[in-house]
Amino acid sequence: MNLKTPKGTKDILPDETYIWQYVEEKAKNIFNNSNYQEIRTPIFEATELFTRGVGDSTDIVNKEMYTFIQKERSLTLRPENTAGVVRAFIEHGMHRLPTPVKLWYKGPMFRYERPQAGRQRQFHQLGVEVFGIENASADAEVINTAMFLLDELGLKNLSLEINNIGCPKCRNAYKEKIKEAVKPKLDQFCTDCHLRYEKNPLRMLDCKNENCGKLLANPEIEAVINNEFICDDCVKHFSELQEYLQALNIEYKINKRLVRGLDYYNRTVFEITSTNLGSQNAVCGGGRYDPLVEMLGGSPTPAVGWAFGMERVISLLTPPEIKPLDVFIVTNNTKKAFELAEKLRKEKISCDFDLANRKFQKQIEKASKIAKFALILGEEEISSGVLTLKNLQTGNQEKSSFEEVLNKIL
Ligand code: AMP
Repeated sequence: MNLKTPKGTKDILPDETYIWQYVEEKAKNIFNNSNYQEIRTPIFEATELFTRGVGDSTDIVNKEMYTFIQKERSLTLRPENTAGVVRAFIEHGMHRLPTPVKLWYKGPMFRYERPQAGRQRQFHQLGVEVFGIENASADAEVINTAMFLLDELGLKNLSLEINNIGCPKCRNAYKEKIKEAVKPKLDQFCTDCHLRYEKNPLRMLDCKNENCGKLLANPEIEAVINNEFICDDCVKHFSELQEYLQALNIEYKINKRLVRGLDYYNRTVFEITSTNLGSQNAVCGGGRYDPLVEMLGGSPTPAVGWAFGMERVISLLTPPEIKPLDVFIVTNNTKKAFELAEKLRKEKISCDFDLANRKFQKQIEKASKIAKFALILGEEEISSGVLTLKNLQTGNQEKSSFEEVLNKIL
């Protein structure tokens, strides 16, 4: 038998998990300091949540969902987490909480995509959702949080693009204009774009098909895209967002072709990309989705959020230094080692010892590879009730009581 990870999935091994923990820890601290609270929702949900909540004109729903039937119920591994968080928000009456409700999450997502560098079938996202604020202050808040986190992680060469895709009031006229402009050459667009033409023509604007890109680079379509189509309220919202970003010294570009993959967005959409990634250069994507809570059966609640891809962020990081253990206990008395290790761990000192009870010299060698100090507990130490603490960087070695050891290590 030759059992391997399924295509498009990866094991994350110890030489990498410490980097994941570093990112998760940084994110957790920043979210806590910014008053976001963590939410954990199931990894699978009713399929209907995604068909309704993500949109049936999206690639995600049409081609990429891992769906299975269990006792006649159709369930789907979550391809993204906004729909699940909104479902939980409604189910637990969170609209009754004081606004804004600021949530964050992390975890695996599943999309049946063609695997390539930076694109997997099981990948991990970390994201935030802010409910209850219609004002562009919430859009600025979530963008600011993303930029701050990516900056704290030391990511360079990032660029933020923003757009306003209008609201249900003004977007219909825009959709019609796009349809009119692409219609003469519609038969030359890809089959996905034919579906988008019917269901959400805006999404034709970010089709990744090269030929569709060429067809779109036509002056008539450019004119429709560049023409200000959004209503006065949306224009105001967009300029307020820009005022906030300028006040926060966050650089951005307006990209009028940015529409994002999911159907539920309105007004603000944004994407953070990196020039240090290959073709899959999106690090973080998000936007406003005011209609979604009501669409899924809740009371109308404006909302805005983003998600970033852990794998992509990690591939851009300079890995943090691996922290050595504080202490490696060197002894041939395993029972005493267990006792001493427990006492040290209670004092929050990291330590380990040799379960295989190898020779002293071997244990010292191992200690110098992984720890700052060796704590030697030989026969002499056991009979006299003292410990020998060896500083593995300087080689200094001295006899100490347990209390002195604590002082020296801490
Ligand atoms: P989306 O939910 O499509 O807006 O994606 C948000 C972020 O998740 C992207 O900017 C990527 O960083 C990441 N991402 C999305 N799909 C994948 C994938 N298949 N593999 C790895 N990362 C992904």
